[in-house]
Amino acid sequence: MARVPARLQFRVQLRFVTEEQLFGAGPLSLPTPKSLQLDVHPAGEEADATVTDADGVCVFKCLLNRDTECCRVGKESILITLGYSSALLKFESPADLSSFSNTLKRCRNEKKESSVFSQRTEEASAVQYFQFYGCISQQQNMMQDFVRTATYHRAILQNHTDFRDKVVLDVGCGSGILSFFAVQAGARRVYAVEASSVAQYAELLVKNNHLSDKIIVVPGKIEDISLPEAVDVIISEPMGYMLFNERMLESYLHSKKWLKANGMMFPTFGDIHLAPFSDEQLYMEHYSRANFWYQQCFYGVNLSSLRGAAVDEYFRQPIVDTFDFRILMARTVKYTVNFMDSEEADLHRVEIPFVFQLTQSGLVHGLAFWFDVAFVGSLVTVWLSTAPTEPLTHWYQVRCLLHTPLFAKEGETLSGKVLFVANRRQSYDIQIVALINQTGFRSGNILDLKNPFFRFA
Ligand code: SAH
Repeated sequence: MARVPARLQFRVQLRFVTEEQLFGAGPLSLPTPKSLQLDVHPAGEEADATVTDADGVCVFKCLLNRDTECCRVGKESILITLGYSSALLKFESPADLSSFSNTLKRCRNEKKESSVFSQRTEEASAVQYFQFYGCISQQQNMMQDFVRTATYHRAILQNHTDFRDKVVLDVGCGSGILSFFAVQAGARRVYAVEASSVAQYAELLVKNNHLSDKIIVVPGKIEDISLPEAVDVIISEPMGYMLFNERMLESYLHSKKWLKANGMMFPTFGDIHLAPFSDEQLYMEHYSRANFWYQQCFYGVNLSSLRGAAVDEYFRQPIVDTFDFRILMARTVKYTVNFMDSEEADLHRVEIPFVFQLTQSGLVHGLAFWFDVAFVGSLVTVWLSTAPTEPLTHWYQVRCLLHTPLFAKEGETLSGKVLFVANRRQSYDIQIVALINQTGFRSGNILDLKNPFFRFA
């Protein structure tokens, strides 16, 4: 979603080809390398391609858009036809050609209809989502989550044998930070794919760190781009609130189409944990917020008919903050998503049944959620945890309230299920049903993960 003009630069050999030469058999001798500059227009639907010679004189210029006639020639060349003549551009590597043709594809509006991503996503959601990640400040926020970034660094560097001389794919590279870690661990080449306009800043960092020969930034969605080769390792940080928010895990799983048969995934699997909690204050706070609508004379207006709707809306919001783990009333139930053998469709509907043996008596106000991911390397397994017993991360923990609290005694069991149903807003509708087996008390709730309530100070 290139909102800002982006500039790409390549070294190419340029040869003008007439129709006669095209159909004739003679081989084409190739001239000295020239510089090709590609300026992508803000909307991303057109780009200017300019080829200049060693003296900076423009020798070829054309506009690339949906009407551009082109085809690939061999592994490193592309033929662009303008009227009666054509220009043959030979790139220095298949990677350069692939980067150029990815931009060309976007300009030609290819794959727009068939992309797995666009089929599962509302346009408005995607625009807002990639604008958010296009902000340097949002990338900084994640980079400054010390637990997150330092754990990725450790997971990659301590498993250097899995990276040494390997080809790596970084899915959603953002600033490119994980790609740099892969190079530090000895990677031969990293394809850094990023759909937001932050891709151009990643490219700038790569250049300024003198790693253009190792890290190739590929702007575009992982579902739409193509790579010149299969990869040994895929790295990514695709976790959202409650693990599943953003539906980026699906993009991570999608990227396995580029993974070699014995390739590795970093992270390798993710565990989501849930446990019942008791927090009277939180529950009352939610009710009090809705009680604003209870007023019968707000500047002379009776608001009370909207109080029910207000309560419903507040209770649909999962609460993002942290808490003292002593509010938890049972040992957690865990659900694992193994990134090595799961498919995208496995995440369209996730059902987590639970049976909790309560370790305290009191009111159950809802279920608390958090996740861990594990990097299973050849040398060590490294864990990144967002549990309430561990140092706080920017994922915090997430709590879902029950509509009515359930009274239960120590030793009784709370059973039921949580159902996550994916929606087209890159998030999930969450359904919870819960029952105290010994008394038959029931409760539940339906929540909208796209619209959480941020309660932390
Ligand atoms: N890897 C970086 C950024 C992680 S945030 C880091 O660890 O700091 C996730 C990034 O993935 C965002 O920049 C977002 O724009 C990008 N992203 C999300 N879905 C994507 C997709 N389908 N294709 C490419 N990039 C995607």
